[in-house]
Amino acid sequence: HRSKSTGLPDVRERTLVAIKPDGVQRRLVGQIIQRFEQRGFKLVGLKMLQASQDVLSEHYCNLRTKPFYNNVVRYMTSGPLVVMVWEGHNVVQTSRTMVGHTNPAQAQAGTVRGDFSIHVSRNVIHASDSVEGAQKEIQLWFQAKDLLDWDCWDQISTGEL
Ligand code: GDP
Ligand code: MG
Repeated sequence: HRSKSTGLPDVRERTLVAIKPDGVQRRLVGQIIQRFEQRGFKLVGLKMLQASQDVLSEHYCNLRTKPFYNNVVRYMTSGPLVVMVWEGHNVVQTSRTMVGHTNPAQAQAGTVRGDFSIHVSRNVIHASDSVEGAQKEIQLWFQAKDLLDWDCWDQISTGEL
């Protein structure tokens, strides 16, 4: 597939990013979205919701045996999340870098967790950790019809408008 406006191959890699309840409570939504826009990724899905235990247990199925699992589910269902799908070149890996280490004590300054958090149980943001994981998570949180395949306004500069 090639983009109609640029003629370049379509970049289809997508990842799921969620601002966790502490991020929403602390009014970090705008700053976090700004970082992804500024980096150059394209927002293709966005919603705010309070997650059910069912969705959470699927989302964190690989953590079920961990001692902190129940705490994580309680935290993640405690208030609204802002769940997003971002698209672009290498978006899965680059988002993980932007998010930073799981434990904020080890997260570098300049990352979301390194700039906004101090404790692993309140680390502000989620991002998928692999392309396959991202595909599963996107299907879990979004219906296909709610992901928008929009063309950038660069059409203006290419003279198509
Ligand atoms: P992530 O991909 O960097 O978010 O990390 P994981 O997938 O390993 O863990 C999912 C989430 O569980 C993390 O973002 C933390 O919020 C939480 N978590 C992970 N490890 C711990 C821990 O040791 N203690 C607590 N309380 N929460 C943890
Ligand atoms: Mg993870």
